[in-house]
Amino acid sequence: MCNLLIKDICFTFFSIIWFCMKQAVAKNFEAEKYRFLSGGGDMGNLMRSKDWSASLVGPPDTWPQSLRTTLSIILNSKFPMFLFWGPDLVCFYNDAYRPSLGNEGKHPNILGSRGEDYWQEIWPVIKPLIDQVLAGGEATWSEDQLIPIYRNGKMEDVYWTFSYSPVNDESGKPAGVFVTCNETTEKVNTFRSLQESNRMYVNNIVQAPVAMCIFRGKDHVVEIANELMLKLWGKKAGEVMHKPIFEGLPEAKGQGLEPLLDNVYNTGERFIANERAVSLPRNGRLETIYVNFVYEALKEADGTISGVVATASDVTSQKTERKKLEESEEKLNIVIDASQLGTWELDLRTKVIIYSDRYLEMLGYNKGDVVMHEDLVKQLHPDDLATREKAFEKAFETGVLDYQVRVIWKDGSVHWLEAKGKVFYDEAGKPFKMIGTSRDITEVQQREENMARFAAIVQSSTDAIISKDLNGIITSWNAAAEQIFGYTEKEMIGQPLLRLIPPDKIEEETSILLQIKSGERVNHFETKRINKYNELLDISLNISPIRGIHGNIIGASKIARDITPQKEAERMIAANEQKFRVLADSMPQFVWTGDAAGNINYFNQAVYQYSGLSNEQIKKEGWLQIVHPDDREANVKAWMDSVQTGTDFIFEHRFGRHDGEYRWQLSRAIPQRDAAGNIQMWVGTSTDIQEIKEQDQQKDFFISMASHELKTPITSIKGYVQLLRTAYANSEDMLLKKSLGVIDKQIITLTSLITDLLDVSKIKSGSLVLNKQDFEITEMISEVTNQIQHVNPDHHIIFSGKPATVFADRERISQVLINLLTNAVKYSPNSKEITIKNFIEDDHVVVSVHDSGIGISKTDQEKIFERFYRVEGKDEKTYPGFGIGLFISSEIIQRHDGKIGVSSEPGKGSVFYFSIPVKK
Ligand code: ADP
Repeated sequence: MCNLLIKDICFTFFSIIWFCMKQAVAKNFEAEKYRFLSGGGDMGNLMRSKDWSASLVGPPDTWPQSLRTTLSIILNSKFPMFLFWGPDLVCFYNDAYRPSLGNEGKHPNILGSRGEDYWQEIWPVIKPLIDQVLAGGEATWSEDQLIPIYRNGKMEDVYWTFSYSPVNDESGKPAGVFVTCNETTEKVNTFRSLQESNRMYVNNIVQAPVAMCIFRGKDHVVEIANELMLKLWGKKAGEVMHKPIFEGLPEAKGQGLEPLLDNVYNTGERFIANERAVSLPRNGRLETIYVNFVYEALKEADGTISGVVATASDVTSQKTERKKLEESEEKLNIVIDASQLGTWELDLRTKVIIYSDRYLEMLGYNKGDVVMHEDLVKQLHPDDLATREKAFEKAFETGVLDYQVRVIWKDGSVHWLEAKGKVFYDEAGKPFKMIGTSRDITEVQQREENMARFAAIVQSSTDAIISKDLNGIITSWNAAAEQIFGYTEKEMIGQPLLRLIPPDKIEEETSILLQIKSGERVNHFETKRINKYNELLDISLNISPIRGIHGNIIGASKIARDITPQKEAERMIAANEQKFRVLADSMPQFVWTGDAAGNINYFNQAVYQYSGLSNEQIKKEGWLQIVHPDDREANVKAWMDSVQTGTDFIFEHRFGRHDGEYRWQLSRAIPQRDAAGNIQMWVGTSTDIQEIKEQDQQKDFFISMASHELKTPITSIKGYVQLLRTAYANSEDMLLKKSLGVIDKQIITLTSLITDLLDVSKIKSGSLVLNKQDFEITEMISEVTNQIQHVNPDHHIIFSGKPATVFADRERISQVLINLLTNAVKYSPNSKEITIKNFIEDDHVVVSVHDSGIGISKTDQEKIFERFYRVEGKDEKTYPGFGIGLFISSEIIQRHDGKIGVSSEPGKGSVFYFSIPVKK
């Protein structure tokens, strides 16, 4: 059993070994048979396991060596390879080729099958190539050729790069076509989609709404640029495309763009330019345009920078628009500034007002002050509130605000303001905002007021005020012109002034125009003009040039006064004068006249006869030649005094007769006044007083002599009377004593009279000597007051005064005061009070003596200081006197450069005063 078992086991073992060996031998045989099919991966396996016996090529062992060798190469190559063999073009391929057949397609059935059967879809394409190769042609080469094939259950577009080459059999003739191929579908598709994306990219650039371009490489070659970019560059595509940009667009060189581009290209940093000024060609010349642009690095997939993408937009117009806007805004600001306009914006809902500084200033505020609308309203002049209110009401209706009001500043000053504005309405049509300007029109207003005033003056003038242009055309015509010439303003404006000019005066107008054109005035020109009714008028003209704003003469203004009545009067005066002359010439007295200025312009015939001078001689050398040389100075002074003060001229002087003798004349002249009291002329007469003068001199001589002669015996009598009175002082003889007393008193009176007469003589002869010294005047007044009071105990003399030192003749001033006081006592028998005062006025001591006596009439007041003048009347007769006291007083005071005078009213009393200069 065991043996059997062993035998069995051994048998089994050997059987196994046998089988194994048999297998190995079979295998070895197969391997040997398909050596050329060894390797080759899946396709190798497939080929080896395929039952080739029924195939078109028969079993492999029948295959010619050339086939075997070729298949061996194919199977062992990692390149996709395919083989068409034999007349049936049986198909073989390797693993590398296998994927090109897809799934669910030709594989694996195509292996060993006729090419035509399986490559129906491409047969028309490849068959000619195969034929060409088999016919002994050269190997073919096709790249990326589209050869759609059926695979993956459908027809697919497949791209190939392939080469067909002949495989020769043992006879040396092509028996098959060896195909090395590469499916490039993916590559082609990738390329295609790349191309597509490129195309789209380019399209994007080309169609971009902004200027775009690509600069490629470090030289910034223009790879693509859209129309907008070309337009921006001012170039045609041909000029720039595919050229370095600064070569194609040399105008852009040197504007700082090169380093920018380089920097983007080198660093990849984006560059953004905003409104950069660039000079570029436009219509044949360079123009500065403003461009916003971006340079962006163009990066490849691997991150390297291959170029720069530039996008740009021309913002010149925006920039210039903005500039224009800015300029116009600036202009507006300048205008606002220059026009001194204040601007404001008032929110009508909130009453909030926004204003410019100038506006504030106009209302008297300082820059930066915060002011509310109500504050501003409060500043309005109360009289103008209604004006403003009305203006606002109107503004809401019309949309336009326009008014002028006064505003009162904090300092109380009043200013005129003009406001203009526009109302803004909301969608509902309600006003919600006002924007406007204000202007200080105080000056304008004043100017207008002045103009109005001026116009009123012109209109109210009684003189015709006419203006004309340089062509003599009337441009203005006032009411008086209408009055004087009879033409209305309407009738005359635009008319030539010649209308008013009599034919014989036309020349005159031409010369006036010439004078005016040279800038001169024509003053008080008397001429004749014709009025509307053809009447000749006497006209006095004042013509001045009118200057334009540049100082050039643009016309003339004429003030014409109708002096016809005046001329008429002058003619009448001339006639009267004629009469007057006839009359004057028939008089033996000298008659003469002078004009208002004191020029002597007429002498009657008697003057010529007396003086022996002709009219011409007097005219030539003056009338003063008639007057005695010693009298001339005083004469002229007195005459000029009268002319200046308008007081009557009274003067005694000597006139030289034709025979050389001088005779005294008393000349008097009185002014002739018009209705308004203005002196028109002086009419004077001179009367011969030679004889009176001589009598006067004799009288003076007699007085002088008598007083001198009387002085010695009176002094002697006075001495003896004094002696007798002393001797008989204790006598019982009362008659003797009384008589001596009376004699003494009368001698005092007589002495004083003689002293006065002597003084008069001295004055007349000019020998009154003054002994001036410093003295205190109130002391002197007190002394005199006491003295007079003593003699006149019935009167009450009151003195109050202010001490003042004078440099004067104390005796003579005492004499004046004694005289005034004596008169005050003498001429006030019924009132007993006399007041003396002194005060200082204008460096003079004024001393006044006030009585309440009989007073003096106005006419007498003027004469009482004359020699021997006494007021006549029944009252005065009762007062003794000679009328020389005041004459002497007046002379003394005048010699002291002082003044003496009186103010009095008959029956009420008199105030006599004198003044002399205080000591300096
Ligand atoms: P007589 O010696 O006449 O007083 P005067 O020269 O002193 O001379 O005065 C001239 C005239 O003035 C007087 O005659 C008198 O009529 C008038 N007179 C002078 N003083 C006064 C006076 N105080 N009151 C009124 N009349 C006076």
